Amino acid sequence: MVGFTNRMPHWLEALLGERFFNPCTIHETAKKNEKNIFCLDCCSSFCPQCLPLHRTHRLLQIRRYVYHDVVRVDDLEKLIDCSSVQSYTTNSAKVVFLNERTQSRPFRGSCNACRSCDRPLQDPYLFCSLSCKVKLLLRSEGGLARELRECEFLPLPSSCELDDGQLTPDSILESASATSSGSSAGGGGGAGARAIRSTAGTESLAQRRRSAAGRPSGPEVVNRRKKGVPTRSPLY
Ligand SMILES: [Zn+2]
Ligand SMILES: [Zn+2]
Ligand SMILES: [Zn+2]
Repeated sequence: MVGFTNRMPHWLEALLGERFFNPCTIHETAKKNEKNIFCLDCCSSFCPQCLPLHRTHRLLQIRRYVYHDVVRVDDLEKLIDCSSVQSYTTNSAKVVFLNERTQSRPFRGSCNACRSCDRPLQDPYLFCSLSCKVKLLLRSEGGLARELRECEFLPLPSSCELDDGQLTPDSILESASATSSGSSAGGGGGAGARAIRSTAGTESLAQRRRSAAGRPSGPEVVNRRKKGVPTRSPLY
């Protein structure tokens, strides 16, 4: 790692070393407090609540895809060439992984594999992630000068502000995204909403049981009719 920082920009080293999607320590009690924005000027990550402090800075939105941090190719291409990194299309956005993912089984085959970590890849690609590309280039070329691009202005897409940035194309994704469909019954604050969401499954089951037990009551109508009939004895 000696001399590592001399050969790559600080922001890139920080980006690849950062742990995203942890709660922001400044906004511990806020609703959307996952650190999913990276500031290239401050070389740090923060949550959407922190945005006002970085308005004029160059910002990169981090998303999650199959438990790993990804960024949109459109954004990353403004900073560094990533055409040789395998991309994935999800929610109509092309994304690439920031870091290599641990592999469950070692890959030994004749197919195309990541030049850095041996992960199997689709054909035209050379790297599984940005970090694999960076690592190899630092090793083979001693720098990234030819890959880096000048970028003076990198705003967040307007749609992503205070958005949790979670992509949900696959069912494997963490259920961290706030799906508030059908939880309108309880109301209440953030903590309450979270509790409702986590017990939603059992609640609906109980409701189903209740409606099954209470059958439509027909006999009531018959009783009312009986009462209406005058029963006076004619003999006295
Ligand atoms: Zn924050
Ligand atoms: Zn900043
Ligand atoms: Zn790799």
